[in-house]
Amino acid sequence: MYIDSHCHINFPELAARMPDILAQMAHNKVTHALCVSVDLPDFPQVLALAHQYPHIYASVGVHPDYEDTPEPTVEQLVALADDPKIIAIGETGLDYFRLEGDLEWQRERFRTHIKASRITRKPLIIHTRSASEDTIRIMREEGAGTEAGGVAGVMHCFTESLEVAKAAIAMGFYISFSGIVTFKSAKELQAVALELPLERILIETDSPYLAPVPYRGRMNEPGFVAHVAEYIAKLKGVPVEEVAAQTTANFRTLFNVAE
Ligand SMILES: [Zn+2]
Ligand SMILES: [Zn+2]
Repeated sequence: MYIDSHCHINFPELAARMPDILAQMAHNKVTHALCVSVDLPDFPQVLALAHQYPHIYASVGVHPDYEDTPEPTVEQLVALADDPKIIAIGETGLDYFRLEGDLEWQRERFRTHIKASRITRKPLIIHTRSASEDTIRIMREEGAGTEAGGVAGVMHCFTESLEVAKAAIAMGFYISFSGIVTFKSAKELQAVALELPLERILIETDSPYLAPVPYRGRMNEPGFVAHVAEYIAKLKGVPVEEVAAQTTANFRTLFNVAE
């Protein structure tokens, strides 16, 4: 039994295929998925999915790549997170790969989310790309980690170095691997996954993007997270059942959800 810790099934290409997606999840023994919010206008749909389906959880947040979108305040995020199916704040973080120029607004938005996480006691879903130094620095400055009174969270779709992973883990964070880890070219990332203890790992699809091998290039969906788990099991030389059980337990511990 697997949990997809990060997907975007509210995006139209997936939302239009919900019956198929749920059937594929059941077929691949994916019991739950966390539908991650990327902006405030889309949030009602994300929340509606979580209310409609018992095995879909949701988050509230505004993605760092969304420039022309309503800016959330701490109070707004705290208010929107006040629902039992909203189990996380995000996705948030920094992305210096997709956007250029003065990105102070991105850093301010990230700080807003960390403040909301500390108030709501709901963990952060952090996206970081070409910005790991500033990401870790702001996490420290705003007290995102458990050592600073925060509730930590997950570094999602991780593609950074072992050093960055260890810095996040030292703050109580988990590291989530997507289908990228299954790509032939991802040798460095595979070395990171091999090094990290299973106790700190989550698995995700980030669907509709980044389908794992053997579906690379196709539209991704939560059911395919089983292939990420299979790959990590092979990499570590452990039974896939162990990866399934441990990553599921990690998800439940981090997001404080019972079975
Ligand atoms: Zn992301
Ligand atoms: Zn995402």
